[in-house]
Amino acid sequence: MKRLVTVVTGGSRGIGAAVCRRLAADGHDVVVGYLRDAGAAEAVADEVLGAGARSLALRADTSVEEDVDRLFALAEERLGPVTGLVNNAGVTGPLGRLADTATADLRQVLDVNLLGTLLCSRRAAQLMAPRGSGVIVNVSSAAATLGSPGEYVHYAAAKAGVDALTLGLARELGPDGIRVNAVAPGVIDTEIHAAAGDPERAARAAAAIPLRRPGRAEEIAAAVAWLMSPDASYAAGAVLRVSGGR
Ligand code: NAP
Repeated sequence: MKRLVTVVTGGSRGIGAAVCRRLAADGHDVVVGYLRDAGAAEAVADEVLGAGARSLALRADTSVEEDVDRLFALAEERLGPVTGLVNNAGVTGPLGRLADTATADLRQVLDVNLLGTLLCSRRAAQLMAPRGSGVIVNVSSAAATLGSPGEYVHYAAAKAGVDALTLGLARELGPDGIRVNAVAPGVIDTEIHAAAGDPERAARAAAAIPLRRPGRAEEIAAAVAWLMSPDASYAAGAVLRVSGGR
């Protein structure tokens, strides 16, 4: 039987690592993409191996075309035809008002969240369309519809772009047998908030969330895994909000 080979970008920690573990449990071979933390990515790949799946940790800056091409080339060389892609790599940049945000931060947030998703999706489409099947799940954000004033409107705008490309690409690639969907998490307890300059952000957000707590990475991974699975065989162009009601 054909093996499921799924590339997860930003798989070294947080939501991406939880997605790698969950997909391994669901029978996928997993390419663990990462940018800086090779040790963390190797540890996740080891966990995937421990679950009985094949795995590979590969460094690739998703906003760089050559890195993306190499990521998919090595994945196919080592594990076989790529059948799935989870566009999870993302950054918020420092929290703050637009007026105080540096151009370099605007550019990086757009490059990683939007251009990176486009570059990886384009490479996946080139490989999957001739084969007549494939699944892509984008990790968007509830920020896309909240706007994130005072925090990172540029990040919200980039994720709104991800929502638009999810719909467009689902319609473009549906006839090729490729399903494209997105998960839009609310506030999830990961290191992304510390990287944005506010380690307590997730805990503090609890009061404004109807379920009164931040989400766990595993709760997002479950939604991603569903959209990747045959159980979601008629879902295409959907943006599934998993945000505790926010
Ligand atoms: P995280 O803990 O900060 O992890 C980010 C991951 O992305 C890391 O594996 C990192 O790799 C990788 N990465 C960053 N820049 C990259 C680049 N240029 N190329 C390739 N990989 C890159 O973040 P998270 O909270 O798990 O977030 C995962 C996704 O969920 C992101 O798209 C984020 O926008 C989205 N999201 C998160 C939340 C939340 O509250 N946590 C809410 C809504 C949406 P290295 O560690 O190796 O650098």
